[in-house]
Amino acid sequence: MSKSPRISLAEMARQSGAVLRRGDSSNFDPSRGLPPTLADLTESLFFSPGDGRIWMNDQRMLLIHSSAMGHLRRELIDTLGLERARGLLTRAGYVSGARDAQLVRERWPDGDAASVFMAGTRLHALEGVVKVTPLSFEFDIDRGTYEGEFLWEHASEDDEHIGAYGIGTEPACWSQVGYATGYVTSLFGQLVVFREIECRSMGGSVCRVVGRHAAAWGDVSEDLRYLQAQDFRSLAAPDPLPQAAPAEPPLAAAGADPHEIVGASSAFASACHQLDRVARTQATVLFTGESGVGKEVFARRLHRVSSRSAQPFVAVNCAAIPETLIESELFGVERGAFTGASVSRPGRFERADGGTLFLDEIGTLSLVSQGKLLRALQESEIERVGGSRTVKVDVRVVAATNVDLQAEVRAGRFREDLFFRLNVYPIHLPPLRDRRDDIPLLMNHFLRREAARHGRRVTGFTPRAVRALLHYGFPGNIRELQNLVERGVISAEEGTPIDVRHMFRREQLSEETLLAIGAHGALAPRAGDDVPNLLQHLQSTLGREALPLPELEARLLREAVEAEGGNLSAAARRLGLSRAQLAYRLERSGRDL
Ligand code: ZN
Repeated sequence: MSKSPRISLAEMARQSGAVLRRGDSSNFDPSRGLPPTLADLTESLFFSPGDGRIWMNDQRMLLIHSSAMGHLRRELIDTLGLERARGLLTRAGYVSGARDAQLVRERWPDGDAASVFMAGTRLHALEGVVKVTPLSFEFDIDRGTYEGEFLWEHASEDDEHIGAYGIGTEPACWSQVGYATGYVTSLFGQLVVFREIECRSMGGSVCRVVGRHAAAWGDVSEDLRYLQAQDFRSLAAPDPLPQAAPAEPPLAAAGADPHEIVGASSAFASACHQLDRVARTQATVLFTGESGVGKEVFARRLHRVSSRSAQPFVAVNCAAIPETLIESELFGVERGAFTGASVSRPGRFERADGGTLFLDEIGTLSLVSQGKLLRALQESEIERVGGSRTVKVDVRVVAATNVDLQAEVRAGRFREDLFFRLNVYPIHLPPLRDRRDDIPLLMNHFLRREAARHGRRVTGFTPRAVRALLHYGFPGNIRELQNLVERGVISAEEGTPIDVRHMFRREQLSEETLLAIGAHGALAPRAGDDVPNLLQHLQSTLGREALPLPELEARLLREAVEAEGGNLSAAARRLGLSRAQLAYRLERSGRDL
C-alpha cells in the first residue's frame, strides 16, 4: 500500500478547519441537551410538498423506497460484480457522511465536541438508515487519536441484502460504513476508517462497527480500495471523495471578483453552457430575463471569456439615460453640436472599441435611436452628434432586455430589423424561483461576500431563515436575495446566525405550507416560529377533521393526571387550574362522555 494517499486525505481534511479537539463517551450525556440535539437536527429537516422538495438545512434530500435502493444494489452487483458494487456504494455513503458533517460544522461551529460527533449517528438514524448506539468512543485531535465502537440496529442495507442474497460470510453495510468514515473523517480532519466487525448479513442479531484512526489500524489498504484511495491524490479529480475537504462547487467559490456568477442548477448550467459556446465567436448576444437575474454579470463573463477580454467592457443602461442624451452618450458629440457641448468627446461605442458594448434595457430606446444603433451595427461605423466624419469602430454588442421584444415589434415600438440583428444568439436567464437549487449556494456566496465587505462576523443562517429563503418567491431575483442577505449581515448580532427578522419584513413572507417533523414523528405544518393556528395544527397532528372540544378537554385532563402519576394537585398546576377546578372538570368530563 502506498503511503501518500492516506496522508493527502488527512491533509485535505485538515484544511476543512475542524474546530473539535477532544471528547469521549464518558463525559457525553445525551440528556444534557447540548446542541446539536436530536431536536435541533430534526428542526433542520423539512418537507415542501407543494414545491417537490425536501431539505436538510440547505441541502436537498430525497425520500427513496428502501426496496428501490435494494433493487439498485442487486443490479450493481449483478452487472459490476461484488467488488465494484461495494466500492460504489461505499463512496456514495462517504459523500452523504461528509455532507452531513459539513452541515453540522456550518450550523453549529461552536457546538459541544461530543454532541457534534454524535450528531452523525443521529442524522444517520433520522435519515432512516440505521439506529446507532455508541458503546464507547474517544478522540483527541491534537494527539491524532480516535477510537469508537457502535452497535447498528435495523440497518436498512442488511434488510435489502439479506432479502436478496440471504445470510452470507461477509458484512454488507457498505454505504453505512462509507457514511461513518465520511462523517468522522470530514469532521475531525483525519482519516478515520470504520469496519463492520459483525453484521446481520452474517447471521448476527445486530451489526457492530469499530472506527479507528487509519494509523492505528495498521494496514488499511483494503478499506482504501473501496474508497478509491488513489483519487485522493488529485484535488482536481471530479471524484466524490474530495468532499473530505468540503470543496465548493467551482462556480460557487467566493473570490475577489464581485461579478462572479454562482450556481449549480440545471437551468443555470444550461445558460452557462450557451454562454461559453457563443463567447469565443463574434456573434451579437441578446440576454433575456426578468430584472435582477444577473444579465450584466453574464455579459461581463461573456466578455471575460471572449477573445476581446483584454479590451474594454463598456456597459450602458439605456433606461437610465434621458432620451435627449442617449445619442450623444452612445455615439459621442462634436464641440458646438448643441448648447453646452463645449468640448468634443467620444461616446460609448468609441470607448468600447476593440471590446464589448453592453446595452441593457435595450427595449427602452426610441425608434430614432434604434435606427442609429442599427446603422452602427450594420456599418461598424458611427458618426458623432454634430459631426460629419464617420469613425470606424470594432465593437461586439451584447444587449439585454426584460421585456418581450417580439411583442414590442408587433406593437410597433421596436424595429423588426434591429430585433433580428440583435437576436442572433438569444440566451434566456431563468428567474431565481426556477433555479431554487442555487439558492443555498447564492446564500452562502453573498453571506461571505457581504460579511467581508461590512467587516461583520455572522455564523450562517438559522433553520427558520433557511426555510424562509428557500420558499420565498424572489420577485426581485438574485439582486433581491443579495439585498436580503446584506440586510441580514448588517442587522444580525455579531457572532450569531442571521434570522428571518433580520432580512424580511413580515408582510414579505408568504404563507407557504411547509411540513416538519412534529414531536411524535409525524409531519405537521409549520408556517412560522411558533404555532400560528392551534386548531389547524391539532387537526393535522391528530389527522382529524373534527375536534370535539369535550373530548379534547377530557384527553388533556387525563393525560395531565397520568403524567403526574395521579397527583391531582400537580396535574392541576400543569393545566393552570386549582385542584378543586380540576376535580370538578374531571367529574364533569366523565359524565359527558
Ligand atoms: Zn450490517
